[in-house]
Amino acid sequence: MKKKKSIWLWVLFIVMIIVIGLVIWQFIAGTADKLTLDEFNKIFTQGGSVATERTSEKIYNGVHVISGVYTTADGVTRKFVLTLNNANYDKALAEDPGFAEFVSKITLIADANSPFMSLIIGLLPMVILIGFYIWMFSSMSKGGMGGGMFGPGKSTRPREIKSDVKFSDVAGINEEKTELVELVDYLKNPNKYAQMGARVPKGVLMEGPPGTGKTLLAKAVAGEAGVAFFSMAGSEFEEMFVGLGASRVRDLFSDAKKAAPCIIFIDEIDAVGRKRSGGMGSSTNEQTLNQLLVEMDGFGSNSGVIVMAATNRVDVLDNALLRPGRFDRTIQISLPDIREREDILKLHSRNKSVSPEIDWKRIAERTPGFSGAQLENVLNEAAILVVRDKRKMITLTDIDEAIDRVVGGPAKKSRAMTLQDKQIVSYHEAGHALMGLKLESASKVQKVTIIPRGNAGGYTIMTPKDESNFSSKEDLFASIAGYLGGRAAEEIMFGKNKITTGAHDDLDKATNIARRMVTQFGMSSLGLTKYLTMQEESYGQTKGVYSDEVAYKIDTEINVILEQCYKTAVEVINKHKDVLELIAESLRVLETITAEQIDYIDKNNQLPKEVVEEKNRRAVEDKKKESGEILEFEPDEEDK
Ligand code: ADP
Ligand code: MG
Ligand code: ZN
Repeated sequence: MKKKKSIWLWVLFIVMIIVIGLVIWQFIAGTADKLTLDEFNKIFTQGGSVATERTSEKIYNGVHVISGVYTTADGVTRKFVLTLNNANYDKALAEDPGFAEFVSKITLIADANSPFMSLIIGLLPMVILIGFYIWMFSSMSKGGMGGGMFGPGKSTRPREIKSDVKFSDVAGINEEKTELVELVDYLKNPNKYAQMGARVPKGVLMEGPPGTGKTLLAKAVAGEAGVAFFSMAGSEFEEMFVGLGASRVRDLFSDAKKAAPCIIFIDEIDAVGRKRSGGMGSSTNEQTLNQLLVEMDGFGSNSGVIVMAATNRVDVLDNALLRPGRFDRTIQISLPDIREREDILKLHSRNKSVSPEIDWKRIAERTPGFSGAQLENVLNEAAILVVRDKRKMITLTDIDEAIDRVVGGPAKKSRAMTLQDKQIVSYHEAGHALMGLKLESASKVQKVTIIPRGNAGGYTIMTPKDESNFSSKEDLFASIAGYLGGRAAEEIMFGKNKITTGAHDDLDKATNIARRMVTQFGMSSLGLTKYLTMQEESYGQTKGVYSDEVAYKIDTEINVILEQCYKTAVEVINKHKDVLELIAESLRVLETITAEQIDYIDKNNQLPKEVVEEKNRRAVEDKKKESGEILEFEPDEEDK
């Protein structure tokens, strides 16, 4: 009995759908103006227009149906249909260049289905929707709110895994590892911290380019502490069913709380954590983000759950995520430098048989800009080559070929350019560093590197010298000069025509400071007036609320400041060219140099001993190679 009833229900639905469909079809077809070609042309001659982007042409068995939207001369918008058979259509195309041009602009849907078929296709979404509702109702009445579609089944929940990764599986990034040791200790004995009333960070945000070991590091924390590891990617929250993101976040946290102590790892958090637009934009995404914020606020700091998240775009994240009590600790992970690359290569070669001729230091020298994942890939490719040739050991030739494979075609050129790039970037970054060193008000240089990151060739990390909350005019001038130091060094070392695009980001920052000096801080000849700017949220740009004349004055004034600071930068570099040379050379040898090494160069006017040692080592090796002691690129005899 029951079965029969449901069949009848289905039949009823299908009939209903067809009826509704026909009504809609009639409605659409009925309201469109059926035009002849003459009438159509008249629209144009009378000053009307057709929105080409909303018009399409379909061909049904040799009949052209052009349908779309047009606007009459007096601004009324209407739908139209223009039907032409093949002969008329071709004639119009040949005789009327205006028509030909029009047709070339609209979308052609060739060999369209017959109107009946397209009716069916048009109805498909509706059928699916209704089917979906039926399913929803039936599952609701069956299993209550728990089952069915309201509680996404267990299968969509994040998987809880036991991580067996240890810190020893992560090479390089030592400072970052030490920062996480404390978290491990906390996860091991949360009670100790609770008793002391110590607040442990709830959220740790790892920022860095892809493949630098962020996921690996999160797993290592879980592995070291021996706790559960819940992992989910930001994009997964919205997979399959839009709108379920928020409930997934809730599930994730409720599962995690039951399993505490544990780690929740959210990869690509930028997929959910984008700045909320405050207007249009994807609101389901915002719900997900809001739920994430609520959950993070909801659990106490001693609940034993630590959220780790990874992104390579911290700039797009909503500020609310970075507030205390949420992701209040950020760990920056950059591409590995030469020594870190050596460590990573050694680590991943542990379980492979490698010819003793291979010196990992040399491989590290040849792979600037490689991420940990790429290095791992190099070794893997090399191992594959060995297996393929039925040999026993990875040789230098294999590594060489593997590097080429990982870099891929186009980057080959960039490898050939590396030496020249290295030269330019080393002077550029040395220029920044020199400003920090020689301008009293500038920030202190912490670390300089020529390892590329994002679209910057290298970068210099500076921190303010004093803790003051205010910046003086002098400080701001020094900051601008600091940003311009890179470009100034390029120009001095290589000439006006050889300057590169590498300073793009620096100029942006320098201009910003100068603009604020003029418009907000009253530090220019334009006086104390604060010039209002409006933030255009969706574009992230500021727009002035003042006349063109004022805008012109502001721009002129900004330029004056920038020119003045650039002059300062050039003077400093010319005066301390010897120091610049030493810093640049150290950078070319070590790729990353520290504040201590820069201080040493400055005080003693000579290369730090690490640089000298490294240079000597390379010189000895080059000699050996010449005299044939090291046979580079020669396959091992025993492999044959
Ligand atoms: P990310 O999450 O930053 O994109 P992953 O952690 O997924 O990078 O790294 C991918 C792989 O690259 C790791 O599984 C590991 O094999 C290798 N790798 C990356 N960085 C390191 C590192 N510092 N030490 C050892 N291996 C690394
Ligand atoms: Mg990852
Ligand atoms: Zn720069």
